[in-house]
Amino acid sequence: GATLGMLGGGQLGQMFTLAARRMGYAVWVLDPDPDCPAAAVADRHLCAPYEDSASLQEMTATCAAISTEFENVPLRALERAARHVPVRPHAAAVAVAQDRLQEKAFFLGLEMDTAPFAAVRTAADLPVAVASVSFPAILKTARWGYDGKGQGRVASAADLAHVWAGMGKPEAILEERIALTQELSVVMVRAADGMMAFYPVVENRHHQGILDFSVVPARCAESLQDQARRSAARIADALDYVGVLAIEFFVDGAGRLLVSEMAPRPHNSGHFTIDACVHSQFDQQVRALCGLPLGETRLLSPVVMMNLLGDLWENDEPDWSTLLRHPQLKLHLYGKKVARPGRKMGHVNVLAPDIRQAMAVLDALRGDGRRPREAGMGFPDAEHS
Ligand code: ATP
Ligand code: MG
Ligand code: MG
Repeated sequence: GATLGMLGGGQLGQMFTLAARRMGYAVWVLDPDPDCPAAAVADRHLCAPYEDSASLQEMTATCAAISTEFENVPLRALERAARHVPVRPHAAAVAVAQDRLQEKAFFLGLEMDTAPFAAVRTAADLPVAVASVSFPAILKTARWGYDGKGQGRVASAADLAHVWAGMGKPEAILEERIALTQELSVVMVRAADGMMAFYPVVENRHHQGILDFSVVPARCAESLQDQARRSAARIADALDYVGVLAIEFFVDGAGRLLVSEMAPRPHNSGHFTIDACVHSQFDQQVRALCGLPLGETRLLSPVVMMNLLGDLWENDEPDWSTLLRHPQLKLHLYGKKVARPGRKMGHVNVLAPDIRQAMAVLDALRGDGRRPREAGMGFPDAEHS
């Protein structure tokens, strides 16, 4: 079969590689980290900076098509590769997701609701931002943030200048802090011919800015889910997007849907698809990349996905036999050599006849060693079984 190229060798690149190889493709991965998770499963690991000319040249000479798993990949690398082979998603779509200010402007251009925000590019913007956003608010760096990194809480107008200075005065966005009742995401795939397929809407629970767990199907009104899907479709069409795209949404206190941000790649909240759908989000990325027909996105079973963060490794490798005592649970580990607090080391998917039962397994797992989570957001926690 053909060889595919992947820019980025994190867990998303690893799961893409596994999916592609299962479908008969060879995969070359470009990533500067010699120990990146995808290196262990790829046919070839080019260990170099993303913009390395020789590596990109080699890759485009061999690979039939190239994708990325990392929205902060230098656009120049995508653009250079695109002169020789199809690159999906294309650089212009990735560019929008790299900059929160561009991204918000793009959403507003589509007349979608977002959290009220203001740009903070220079000190001159501070008074304008204070006047246009209510507090408490969150200041986020315009670029490079993920998993809640590069964000600061701003309790009141008086704190803004101080918080911004503490972050090193980067280009930033001040966002009103929304009283969230729920967070949702849409994971979808769009083919080169404009065909789209949508996985069921995902309900996400974050902890300290990092995705903690996802519930599918989402426990919210069908009308809200429809609205989320329609928004995602308009975003994908407007970008002429090809590949898997994830859109994150907030639901505010009044039940309004606000679009938060997008990820131009398979997404953590789409990991449930690996075990709860015939075709995973990574299978779909391969299909879209190669111009193959899209696969079915139907949910085969209610499912809860929970991230395994480095915190669990406190002293040593966790005792997986505790987890594996639950026969409904599917364990995925990325083979990362170093565990750090907040680092995504793996995830589990728990499939059960209904969400209540899946949540009960999660609850039991937390009781087995994970610290309890504070209640909030009106989230109906499963009862202990
Ligand atoms: P990732 O890309 O990993 O999803 P990120 O670093 O881009 O994370 P955000 O998605 O902006 O960060 O924020 C992370 C989480 O913090 C959100 O999912 C939400 O729980 C909370 N959060 C962010 N912005 C707001 C807001 N304006 N109001 C309320 N909560 C927010
Ligand atoms: Mg983000
Ligand atoms: Mg996010």
